[in-house]
Amino acid sequence: MATLGRRVVILAACAACVFAVCGRLAAEDRPAISSRQDFFRYAKGLPFGISEDDDYAKVLGKIRKFLEDYKPGSKEESHCLRAVKQALIGCETGGFGIGAVLVNPNGEVVEEAHNEMIQQGRSDLHGEMNLLDKAETNRKVPLLGRFQIPEGFVVFSSAEPCPMCMIRLASAGVDTVYVVGNDADSMTRSIYKLPAFWRDICSKRSFKQAQCGAALSDAAYLLFYSIVFINDEVFKK
Ligand SMILES: [Zn+2]
Repeated sequence: MATLGRRVVILAACAACVFAVCGRLAAEDRPAISSRQDFFRYAKGLPFGISEDDDYAKVLGKIRKFLEDYKPGSKEESHCLRAVKQALIGCETGGFGIGAVLVNPNGEVVEEAHNEMIQQGRSDLHGEMNLLDKAETNRKVPLLGRFQIPEGFVVFSSAEPCPMCMIRLASAGVDTVYVVGNDADSMTRSIYKLPAFWRDICSKRSFKQAQCGAALSDAAYLLFYSIVFINDEVFKK
């Protein structure tokens, strides 16, 4: 359990880093969340009906209802919705709230996955990493040479990729669209800081924030920050 606790601390640190300021809204509109109080304060007024009397299961149930009723206004938004639904499954199965889907050049979702670090006890199973593992293992994509995915495949993620995932996505040869980003300390806009070899690989790919509704983006944001509920559970043991 100590190992698991450490893992959660590492992800929490990553969360604080990735989401210190986040999303399409200004920093003052979407403050970092580091406690349940922060979580409920931010959720108040959003269209999920979440109240501070809700337990974690109830919070997730309300976000699920919102996502099930959500009508995407574009193909891009429908992929974002699928990624956010995966993030929800991550939470519902006891893990972190980050999800991702792989879309082929015809606009069809060919693979989907969520972060399974806690569920599988694996430090590498971030949402995007798990997605590419599955797609490559299950041969859901025709691989160029030994490992590269052909041009035109796009990963939609509920959150901006971390450094590990960004390198993996670029190495696989896919472009990435993410629902919730980080304006203050963005990894995808810090490519110029990488060593030359990796900078070159990442510069060949596109990483951009999705065009999607603010409420869907808020759902992705809250699911990511449901880490404040998980932390409590883990540290109690
Ligand atoms: Zn990652």
